This record gives sequence, C-alpha cells and structure tokens, in this order.
Amino acid sequence: MHTCIVCGNKSKNNNVNRPGVIFHGITKNAYMRRKWLKVLGIDRCYDWQRICSEHFLEENYKPGKKRLLFSNAIPQPYDKNGFPSK
Ligand SMILES: [Zn+2]
Repeated sequence: MHTCIVCGNKSKNNNVNRPGVIFHGITKNAYMRRKWLKVLGIDRCYDWQRICSEHFLEENYKPGKKRLLFSNAIPQPYDKNGFPSK
C-alpha cells in the first residue's frame, strides 16, 4: 500500500474516495527533486515515497494510456484546505 507523502492519500482508498488516483515515485532527477520539495513544502524525501496524481495537472502527463509524467513536470503547490480546482 502506498501513502502520498503530501496529502496522506492511501492507495487502499483508491476505489472508494478518489477513483483514478495513481501514485508516482519521487523524481530521480536531483534538480527536479529540489523543485518538487520546495513546491510541496517538504524538507526531505526518500526513493520509496510516493506522491499521488492529485498533485499534477493533465498537461503534466505524457499523451497515451500510461500515466507517465513529463520529466520536467512539477506538482501543484499543496493547499492543506483542499486540492486546487482543475
Ligand atoms: Zn497526494
């Protein structure tokens, strides 16, 4: 089971609360990773941690059925009061 390090979304809740939510690994690119952490307000992260798809916009994904992020995709700033309207 994955848990989103940003919002606490859990993969086991996928089918109940948030259909279509998937989990992405933290980017391996050190430069992009720093940007991600800054945007998300997180000090540190680990390779095994996950961010759920709620933090990305449709244009962050490559075309096609596989939900792959562009290598330069940056998550949306996280608002604890809720997700930004899409
Ligand atoms: Zn999340």
